Amino acid sequence: MADTDYDLVIIGAGPAGLTAGLYAARARMKVLLLEKAVPGGQILVTDWVENYPGFPEGISGYDLAEKMRIQAEELGLEIETAQVHSLNLSADIKEIVLKDRSIRAKSLIIASGASPKKLGIGEDKYMGKGISFCATCDAPFFRDKTVVAIGGGDTAVQEAIFLTKFAKKVYLVHRRDELRATKILQERAFANDKIEFVWDSVATGVEGFFGIEGVHVKNVKTQEEKTIKADGCFIWVGILPNAEFLKGSIKTDEYGFIIADAKMQTSVPGVYAAGDVRDTPLRQISTAVGDGAIAAVCAEHYIENL
Ligand code: NAP
Repeated sequence: MADTDYDLVIIGAGPAGLTAGLYAARARMKVLLLEKAVPGGQILVTDWVENYPGFPEGISGYDLAEKMRIQAEELGLEIETAQVHSLNLSADIKEIVLKDRSIRAKSLIIASGASPKKLGIGEDKYMGKGISFCATCDAPFFRDKTVVAIGGGDTAVQEAIFLTKFAKKVYLVHRRDELRATKILQERAFANDKIEFVWDSVATGVEGFFGIEGVHVKNVKTQEEKTIKADGCFIWVGILPNAEFLKGSIKTDEYGFIIADAKMQTSVPGVYAAGDVRDTPLRQISTAVGDGAIAAVCAEHYIENL
């Protein structure tokens, strides 16, 4: 094989990427992890993690991310802040194109994670002015105020509960009459006096001059429309893969999540996917960590056989 810069390049420093990096560094592979922002991924904006084994009291998302980063770097992982623009995967050597240069590697792990989906109800206009996707970042601005949270999954329910530490009232707007979130979160939300559920309803818009003053909602069964007076609106209606740089180079599902097999192998030999960016039935820190470990070991075997 022609000269390469690295045995392995990993894209994304969430739990999947950091774990892959830790395993690759311990295997003494020449490995580089590229992260466009701060290492940690989505757990950085998770207030409290209580379903990652080994922390019986729970741990803040930020602290867990920091521990993962420190552990991987102490084992020799090199992390660089850089955004990937595109990939050239047509030859055996994988080319990772950044803004100002390209990196050549024998193998690649894509662990670029996912980002919150937008509803198109004014997110761009009101971002930072009352609309948010991050309770950990913005909940303190809503002390003793009223907020609307939209969604019925783990994120919406967990973060709505967190919001009640600050807000005096949280309306949880969900498009069905049943939550998707795991049962323990449901139990806590139902027992929380500050949360009022707005069932069978979707948000259709927001209003306010300087910031949010109200959220328009429509009942999908009765078609009745109303405005909930609120100072803030948090949107948690699912995620989309951070995979814009793929540009058709790898097989994905209809939503853009990367399709990979049990070895995390994608449609391109030597290219692996791990964590939330992968088409997977469960997106947890524990599953991302498992994906990362498998991807790194399989990448190691792949380059040994080149
Ligand atoms: P999710 O599980 O996909 O849930 C999205 C929620 O938003 C669903 O309730 C969905 O309604 C609703 N929704 C989707 N599109 C909508 C639209 N256009 N309008 C109104 N509502 C809409 O997403 P998530 O909660 O962000 O979680 C993402 C992944 O991370 C999941 O795998 C989750 O388990 C995981 N996660 C785990 C934890 C934890 O373990 N503590 C915490 C956070 C996230 P329907 O139910 O009707 O489809």
